[in-house]
Amino acid sequence: MMTRTGRSFSIKRLARALQGFSLPRNDPRLVINHHLLDVAPILDRGPEAVEAAYESNPLILFSLLEVSRFASLFSGELIEERRFVQLFRRRPPVSTFLHFLHPEPQLEHYGTSGIFISQAEEPSEIVSFLHNLLRYAEIFFLCEPRDIFSLSSLLRSHLLAAVVVNDEPDEFDLHLVRALHHLNIPLFSQVDLGSYYNYIPVQGIDDLFDKLRRLRPTLGTHRLPETKRESAKSVGIPERHEYGGTYLSFYCVRAMGGIDGVEVRGKPTEDVGLIVDLGDTDVDITLTAYIEDELYLLFKHHQWLHFERGEFFKLTVRGPDRPAEELGRAIYDQLKHQFSLQQVSVKLIFDALRLQTLKPTIAAYQEERRQALDRRSDFDAPFFACTYCQRYSRNGFCLISVNHPPQCELSYDAIRATALFTDSTEMFSIKKGELLDRSNMRFTGTDKFARILSQGRIREVGLQSLSVWPLPVTAYAQNIAYMKEELGGIFIISSDYDGYTPDQKTFWELLRKGVGRQVPGIIGVSDAHIRSPEFLAGDGGISRVVWMPSALKKRVGLQKVLHIATERDCSNMMSLKSYLRERGFRF
Ligand code: SF4
Repeated sequence: MMTRTGRSFSIKRLARALQGFSLPRNDPRLVINHHLLDVAPILDRGPEAVEAAYESNPLILFSLLEVSRFASLFSGELIEERRFVQLFRRRPPVSTFLHFLHPEPQLEHYGTSGIFISQAEEPSEIVSFLHNLLRYAEIFFLCEPRDIFSLSSLLRSHLLAAVVVNDEPDEFDLHLVRALHHLNIPLFSQVDLGSYYNYIPVQGIDDLFDKLRRLRPTLGTHRLPETKRESAKSVGIPERHEYGGTYLSFYCVRAMGGIDGVEVRGKPTEDVGLIVDLGDTDVDITLTAYIEDELYLLFKHHQWLHFERGEFFKLTVRGPDRPAEELGRAIYDQLKHQFSLQQVSVKLIFDALRLQTLKPTIAAYQEERRQALDRRSDFDAPFFACTYCQRYSRNGFCLISVNHPPQCELSYDAIRATALFTDSTEMFSIKKGELLDRSNMRFTGTDKFARILSQGRIREVGLQSLSVWPLPVTAYAQNIAYMKEELGGIFIISSDYDGYTPDQKTFWELLRKGVGRQVPGIIGVSDAHIRSPEFLAGDGGISRVVWMPSALKKRVGLQKVLHIATERDCSNMMSLKSYLRERGFRF
């Protein structure tokens, strides 16, 4: 193996530079010293003792580099906790930290998703990478400080992090590589590291990303196109052709049989009716509302065909006019591409007389659908599971029913459509089994899936239970509800609320406490869940909620509920108690 003449390395010299520096105990910035190895007692014994210890435990190097940085010998900032957790709230979430030992200019030609990349100018910058990795393992994989065995096993089984040697290593780099190897962090190298280390050889960035994707298929990497888009100005004003927006125009997706394909009636004029009939047996009337909305969204971003809602439905074609058949085909193809549906019948109607006859039928169908949506309950609609959050977290799953929608912004029907009509292996239907507890909505089937998805760590769950059998919180939780024992009341804080609850808690603090764990008294809840009539029925539901941010209270339509205080009514426990007493809330 070749080594670059560059930085020389002496652990003794590094230790000597830190002699006499007094390390504050329990400083949250000393993540490595807290999680891997506390170097302070060895430093106190002098540089020779550090050198002797380093022979058997290379991790001392990381702890020393962290102390050096702390003592301002090196620069670098710790990412603030809130910003750090937000890395996992992206779609897709970050699930791998990738560190290049040297700056990598080729990276600017690539876009990535699910990967957080750092590049080092200086060896000490490995400290920030390790901070990210250790916090990740602690928060989302529940790794205990100093449990190097579990951490190493985790690093071997999941690709949480990896390091790339992208230039000839100098002496300092080789010591870093030795310590990384000791910790079981996967190494990719563009240069020969000899036979002493296990590493994955790579031939450039394309090969690196290919190999990473083979190890973790959910990671996204792509080469950015060379050509820049023409600026909007140079393109000029595009041609527009509009159909609809008139009283007779409508759009509806129905659960009905029909001939798979596209049918056009009449010549495009000003009125338009779009009916999409889906004949697959798993599509029922309630699911069509979601598919209707989804098509709207898809055609918001389509290259040339746009759906506009407004009071009456409108179709807009950008660019040259196209035959009506082509518009119908674009809708058909888009739907087939999004969902694996067998029977899709797209009908585009421009004939005013026909539209006039159909309009009342469509209105009746939509009313029937609204009633069916209102009527459905957990006892007649299927249950689903979503494991998407296991991409970045142990126990990152939701069990989903009509009245217990996902804790993120996804809806029950979004999960249902993905589970039934896509190749996703992360969302699937589950059997609810027998009812074990009505108020907490505990079923044999949900217990079973909680055990399977948590590998036996979570044995019992109640879909509407907060204090006894809550589901684990995920990083995507829209809001977090928690029980305040002294009041026997429920507080709810939302992720977009920056302030404190009356007992001085923040969303991020609660998220960290509940993420990936079953913590009785803490649960992730979405806005849709708060609106459900069964909301946390096992703990008294809305009647026991005593505090939430005013924006959330408005969003979920609870402005008229007097016993729910907001940050505008009280800022501490004393003022909350008197607020509740005045309104007759018993605690
Ligand atoms: S919060 Fe739940 S439903 Fe939403 S992506 Fe994560 S596991 Fe899926």
